[in-house]
Amino acid sequence: MSNYITITLLNIDTDSFYYLSCGINGCKKKVVQTTKDNATNYYCEKCQKICLQSKPRYLLKADIADETNQLSVLIPDEQAKKILNCPVEYLLTLFGNKPDEAYSKLLEPTQMKFNVLLNMKSNKFNNIVKKQYFINDLKKS
Ligand SMILES: [Zn+2]
Repeated sequence: MSNYITITLLNIDTDSFYYLSCGINGCKKKVVQTTKDNATNYYCEKCQKICLQSKPRYLLKADIADETNQLSVLIPDEQAKKILNCPVEYLLTLFGNKPDEAYSKLLEPTQMKFNVLLNMKSNKFNNIVKKQYFINDLKKS
């Protein structure tokens, strides 16, 4: 039995809610943009290949809270789709055509309650250990 907790979604960062992933054999690694001979390419450091089928994926930065604590978390693509009820491609198209509607759609789930499974990862960067929390699974409360 895993430990799901009930949280309220307080805020979603509307400036950074997706990234471009590799897409080779389902690879989810963020690609690096490279420019050579005036051509822009996307390169995957994990696959060590130029990605011709790079694909946007959600990575929501959100603030959540239960009765006692508030926490900043990252919400990966699979879980973000359950919150927003649409794929990231749809939302990006909407941002292109009707940005006001897109912002509303992105902020729609704030103040809603969800049952979530949290996972913590430690990343060491310049000798500073940073804890990063992810939502690994999510159900509507
Ligand atoms: Zn890759």
